[in-house]
Amino acid sequence: MQNKELADLLFPHVHLVPQDIIAKYPARKLEATAKVTRFAPSPTGFLTIGGLYATFISERLAHQSEGVFYLRIEDTDKKREVEGSIDGIVQALDYFGIRYDEGVTSFGEETGQYGPYKQSARVDIYQAFIKHFVEEGLAYPCFCDTEALQHIRNIQQSRGEMTGYYGKWALHRCFTLEQVKEELAKGKPFVIRLKSQGSSERKIRYTDLVKGLIELPENEQDIVIMKADGIPTYHFAHAIDDFLMGTTHVIRGDEWLSSVPIHVQLFEMLGFKRPEYGHLAPIMKMDGHSKRKFSKRKDPDAAVHYYQLEGYPREAISEYFMTLVNSNYEEWRIQHPAELFSSFVIETSKMSVSGPLFDMDKLHDISKDVIAKMSADEMFEQLVKWAHSYHAGLYQKLINHREYAIGILGIGKDAIKPRKDFAKWSDVPPAISYFFDEEFKAEASTFTESLPPATSELLAQQIVQSYLGMYDDEDDKDVWFGKVKQVADQFGFAKDAKTFKKQPEQFKGHVGDVAMVLRLALSNRTHTPDLFDMMQVMGESRVRSRLCYFIDEVPNS
Ligand code: GLU
Repeated sequence: MQNKELADLLFPHVHLVPQDIIAKYPARKLEATAKVTRFAPSPTGFLTIGGLYATFISERLAHQSEGVFYLRIEDTDKKREVEGSIDGIVQALDYFGIRYDEGVTSFGEETGQYGPYKQSARVDIYQAFIKHFVEEGLAYPCFCDTEALQHIRNIQQSRGEMTGYYGKWALHRCFTLEQVKEELAKGKPFVIRLKSQGSSERKIRYTDLVKGLIELPENEQDIVIMKADGIPTYHFAHAIDDFLMGTTHVIRGDEWLSSVPIHVQLFEMLGFKRPEYGHLAPIMKMDGHSKRKFSKRKDPDAAVHYYQLEGYPREAISEYFMTLVNSNYEEWRIQHPAELFSSFVIETSKMSVSGPLFDMDKLHDISKDVIAKMSADEMFEQLVKWAHSYHAGLYQKLINHREYAIGILGIGKDAIKPRKDFAKWSDVPPAISYFFDEEFKAEASTFTESLPPATSELLAQQIVQSYLGMYDDEDDKDVWFGKVKQVADQFGFAKDAKTFKKQPEQFKGHVGDVAMVLRLALSNRTHTPDLFDMMQVMGESRVRSRLCYFIDEVPNS
C-alpha cells in the first residue's frame, strides 16, 4: 500500500499501465527461426567502421532468416547528443545498402508498427514501467546529490570496499513515505534507483552468441533507472524496447559485455524474455608492424563517412565484411563467383572471438574486382549517385556527357581480364579528367615533359602531323596499328620492340615510342587505357582537334 502511495506521489501524471502498453505491441507473426535484430545507436557522434560492421551482421542475421531488422535511436542522453548524427547514420545505412524494415528514416520520419523508434518519444512508456516498479517495491527514489555520493565513495575507498550505491550504502533505499514527502516538500530533485537483489558474490552464466559461455558477477548496484529529468537511463529503456519491439538477437560491441548482468537482471525483474546477446571484439588496424584498435579521434578511417567520401562501393564493403565475419566465406566465394554475397548464410558461432583485422589493401583489391565486374552502365549509375553527394564537378560532367562517360567507363570491359583501374569512386575523376576538353587543355601545358628519350618536340610534331594525315576513324585495330607502324618506319623507329632490342643503334626507338607520342598528344598522360580504345571513345572530331592542338601548341624550336 505504501509503495502504491509512493508511486502516485512520484508519478501523479502517469496513468498508463504496463499491460495496456504490452497489448499495443503484439508478438510478431514470424517463423520460429526468424530473428529480429536492431541497430540501436546513440546519436552522440559519427558512425564508426566497427559500428557499421556490427550493424551489417545484425542485418544479415535478420534477413537471412526472414526476420526483421530495425533502427532504433537511443537518444536518452540529450547532453551528449551531436546534431546531425541521426541523419549521418540514416545516410550511411543507405549508402552501404543496409536495408532496415522499421525505424527512423530521413527527415525525422519513421516507418513500422512497433514505434516510436526514438527513445525520446517513448518517455511515457518508460515512466509507466518505472512507476510500476516503484509500486512493486522494485525501485525507489534517491535524493542523494553529487556531494553525498562522493562522500559515500570516499568512505568506501578508505575502507577498501566496492564503490557505488548498493546494500547498506544505499541510504535512501529504506526511506519511509514520510521521509520522501519531506524531501519532496523541500523541492529536492530525485532519481529512481533499482532495488537490486543481486550479489556480487554470485555469478550469472550465459552463452554469448560469439564469445561462448560467459560468467560474470551479478549486479549488486542500485543503478539509476530514471534520471532527475524523468528520462530513463539507457539500460532500462533498452530492456523495455527490446522486449516490446520483439528483439530476439542483439549483436553489439564488447564494451557492453560488462553491462550484461544489469541487462539480465532487468529482464528478469520485468518478467520479460531477454534477447540473445553476441558481443564483438573491436576491429583492428595495422599501425606499422603492430595491430591496434581504431582511434575515434585520431584515425580518419575510423569513421564510415571516410569510406563514403572516398566512394567505396557498397558491394565492396559488404564483400569485405563477409570475409571478416566467417572465414569460410572466401572458399564459398571461389566456388560461387557469380552469387550475391547474401546467399551465404553467416553463423555467429563461426565468428572470431578476437577482433578481426581491417586490412585496407585487401579492401582495395576486393573493391577493384567489384568495380571491374560492373558493366559500364552500372558503374555510371553508382558514380553519378556518389558524385551527386561528394563531387559536384564530376556530377555535372556525368550528367552533361552521359554517353561519352559511359563509353569512357566501358574501356577495356570486354577484355578477358577487365581493367582494374579503380578501387573507389574518388579514383575516377583524376583518372578520366583528360577525356574532357577543358581539363585536357588546363593540364596540357606540361605536354612534352614525358616524350620518349630520342624524340625532340619537333620530331614529336612531325610524327603527329604524319599520323594525322592518314588517320581514319573507320580503321579497325589492325589497320590502325599498321598506320602507327608506318609512321614509325618513316621516322626511323623500329616496327616492333624486338627488332629494336636486337640493333638499338640502328633506330631512334620503336613503335611503342611513336604510340607514346600519340598518347601524349591525345591525353597528356603516359598511362592510359589501350590507345586504340581510347581514340574510339574520344571520337573523330576530338582526336583530330587534339592532334592539331599538339601540332600548334608545342614549341617547335
Ligand atoms: N545505445 C547503445 C550504443 O550506443 C546500444 C547498445 C546496445 O546495442 O544495446 O551503443
